[in-house]
Amino acid sequence: MKPQFPITESGVLPQILISSPDPILITTKDIKIVYVNPAWEKLTGYTLEEVKGKNPKILQSGKTPRRVFKKMWQVLLNGHTYTSDEVINKKKNGTEYQIQSNIYPVLRNNKVCCYVQLQHDITNTKRLDELRKEFLFASAHELKTPITVLKLLTQSHLRKAKNQGSDSIKTSELQLIDRELDRIIRLINDMLDSSRFETGKQFMTYEEIDLVELTKKAVQKIQIYAKNHKIFIESLPTHAKVIADPTRIEQVLLNFLSNAVKYSPDGTDITIALTVMGNHVITSVKDQGIGIAKNNQKLIFDRYYTVKAKSKIGFGLGLYISKEIINRHKGKIWVESSKRRGSTFYFSLPLEK
Ligand code: ADP
Repeated sequence: MKPQFPITESGVLPQILISSPDPILITTKDIKIVYVNPAWEKLTGYTLEEVKGKNPKILQSGKTPRRVFKKMWQVLLNGHTYTSDEVINKKKNGTEYQIQSNIYPVLRNNKVCCYVQLQHDITNTKRLDELRKEFLFASAHELKTPITVLKLLTQSHLRKAKNQGSDSIKTSELQLIDRELDRIIRLINDMLDSSRFETGKQFMTYEEIDLVELTKKAVQKIQIYAKNHKIFIESLPTHAKVIADPTRIEQVLLNFLSNAVKYSPDGTDITIALTVMGNHVITSVKDQGIGIAKNNQKLIFDRYYTVKAKSKIGFGLGLYISKEIINRHKGKIWVESSKRRGSTFYFSLPLEK
């Protein structure tokens, strides 16, 4: 059936370009500007007459990562659309602005005749995102000092209460405050870690460690918090030497173990195993808990993702941080689980050669 509105014959197509609220730039196949629309003129401060025949390089600020252009040409020369939100350009008046850029080649008789770039000014969105990151980091950082003071004071009172043989109510109240403070401190540390990973400011200190020793120590630590669970070490090789940041790997293991405690009923077993497979060592933590539905299993490693469960409070940062740590060690992290049947969390690390 013939279209009711003959869009290609009516001169409406050029009008669509002119009226578009999003900036559009068109170049020849040898990258000379042939057209920019009024929205583009408004964004950059250049007129069509000023830029006609020029290379869009005139907009470069020097701040777009080089790899963006490299990737862009790889994609375009393969005939695909290239999308990036990392392009930082400069207006005629020198102001920088960041765009979400979609560039695609237009083909005629199977040959590229021109390139079209659709731009979307995302300067404000990016700035807000930066502010969010700075705010998160600054507030977590500011909270840390007073909480640490409260923790030290509580511990000192707790020691005094125990030495003086104070009544058990006072001691148990102080113990409760102490445990709650530990929870807040863990949350603050997770917020700081997550911020640092997000901004690429989290550094690892690698050294040769024995994963077997590290596992034994982590299990001792978790026993204090897991009085209502039975924790078993199922199998351990004699040694498992890896090059890793010991504090960070212990953090991953403690996160697996504390989740196993948090998401499984009292009285159930938690089983840890270390298995050497080829040139990797795999650590696993198995519980008999609530399990995770298939469609949630990939998402749980995302930042802030929590599956809402009754009375389980969490920020959804633990597994995100664990994934970032294991990725930086060139390892893998994954889960096997089914709902109400428990979960097994794994991470693998390359063995030292
Ligand atoms: P948090 O526990 O603070 O919510 P995590 O990143 O550690 O954050 O975990 C993300 C989500 O993954 C949790 O909210 C929970 O739903 C799920 N999860 C993690 N470990 C387990 C486990 N052992 N059993 C069942 N669900 C789990």
